[in-house]
Amino acid sequence: MKRYSAFAVAKEAFSYHQGWERAWRSPEPKKHYEVIIIGAGGHGLATAYYLARNHGLTDVAVLEKGWLGGGNTGRNTTIIRSNYLQPASSEIFELSRSLYEDLSQKLNFNIMFSPRGVLMLAQTEHELRAWKRTSHANRLAAISSEMVGPERIKKLCPIINIDGPRYPVLGGLWQPRGGTARHDAVAWGYARAASDRGVDIIQQCEVTGIDREEGRVKGVQTTRGAITCSKLCIVVAGHSGVLAKMAGFRLPIESVPLQALVSEPIKPCLDIVVMANTVHGYMSQSDKGELVIGGGSDGYNAYTQRGSFHHAEETVRALCETFPIISRLKMLRQWGGIVDMTGDRSPIIGRAPVEGIFLNCGWGTGGFKSIPGSGWAMAAMVAKGEPDELAGPFSLERFSEGRMIDESVAAAVAH
Ligand SMILES: Cc1cc2nc3c(=O)[nH]c(=O)nc-3n(C[C@H](O)[C@H](O)[C@H](O)COP(=O)(O)OP(=O)(O)OC[C@H]3O[C@@H](n4cnc5c(N)ncnc54)[C@H](O)[C@@H]3O)c2cc1C
Repeated sequence: MKRYSAFAVAKEAFSYHQGWERAWRSPEPKKHYEVIIIGAGGHGLATAYYLARNHGLTDVAVLEKGWLGGGNTGRNTTIIRSNYLQPASSEIFELSRSLYEDLSQKLNFNIMFSPRGVLMLAQTEHELRAWKRTSHANRLAAISSEMVGPERIKKLCPIINIDGPRYPVLGGLWQPRGGTARHDAVAWGYARAASDRGVDIIQQCEVTGIDREEGRVKGVQTTRGAITCSKLCIVVAGHSGVLAKMAGFRLPIESVPLQALVSEPIKPCLDIVVMANTVHGYMSQSDKGELVIGGGSDGYNAYTQRGSFHHAEETVRALCETFPIISRLKMLRQWGGIVDMTGDRSPIIGRAPVEGIFLNCGWGTGGFKSIPGSGWAMAAMVAKGEPDELAGPFSLERFSEGRMIDESVAAAVAH
């Protein structure tokens, strides 16, 4: 595939940009693949890319019922950080964050990684204690994060109201190399690089059934016909329960809508990501000037990619207290995604009860940041047939063995 570069752009300008090829191929599905990945979100595409790049496995198809990146990957608020509490989480999230650092160069696709820093506010004594504990855990895990006081916070984020009437800002956990990236560019970059290495990405191809024989996966039924495979990866976030049912088992996952909104564009006023967990909202400013605002998840299970109306109001009302300047802004648009929540707020990466099926789900409200690390770990597991030390702790068996990886505190507003 032609390399993207300043030189290529200049050269194409002379031929009215008619010479660009499609970013990824759109092949007809073959009858059989060594590996089928269901779901062309970030995690499915990253898995395909690292299978090809790290393990030389290219007889791979990624099947997507809609368009690639159209699930949560293209709907999230793009916060990237790795300051988690538990050692297993720190390891995979920090690997992921570090892979983001030069992902644009590796994929030859500008994913617009912006390590502008992520600040998690502490607005109660309880929260202050929780963040201190997390910062100590981060130091042990060699993750760069630090506790900062109100004065430093005001410097980092001048629009903040430090002495809010209900919830004054007492401190915060600051991760300077956290930040954001362009969400759909991450999906497009992985898709282009995977396709270039021979992976077939097949959109508009919904998996409607999973074929098994003597406890082993045989293949899938799709809206474009039956396809057989030796290994099957289920990487469908909010639809994990639906796919598991097709394969004859249940997952400890609840699917709930989570929503976000953006304001009308304004001049630059916020150059970090700031999360206010007590009042339950968080914000960053996009390159276009919109304030990207995330709120809470619905309190019930559903499959609507919209979310209930009261959340938008509650989120904005809460944030107005801590960031009064946003009170006059108009909302430009609102949307939702279906997130896959586990009880301990940690993902599942592991083998399914059916031989040959591998699971990657349960990233819930915080799986954009983990796309590179998750794809890396998943690819290693699929290639070798068993999880390595990175994925090992996240196996499905942890729920029956009582080995929870409790990240409900580090998840908080949950990104
Ligand atoms: C509003 C919102 C804000 C968020 N903010 C953040 C954030 O700031 N930071 C962060 O780290 N995370 C965030 N997240 C979470 C993050 O978006 C997800 O964890 C992550 O994108 C999941 O990626 P995925 O590839 O697993 O799933 P998805 O991107 O949802 O991809 C799964 C794909 O599977 C496809 N699929 C489903 N069923 C089938 C089928 N039967 N056949 C074929 N294909 C199928 C779907 O169409 C979809 O494209 C947020 C999520 C939402 C909704």
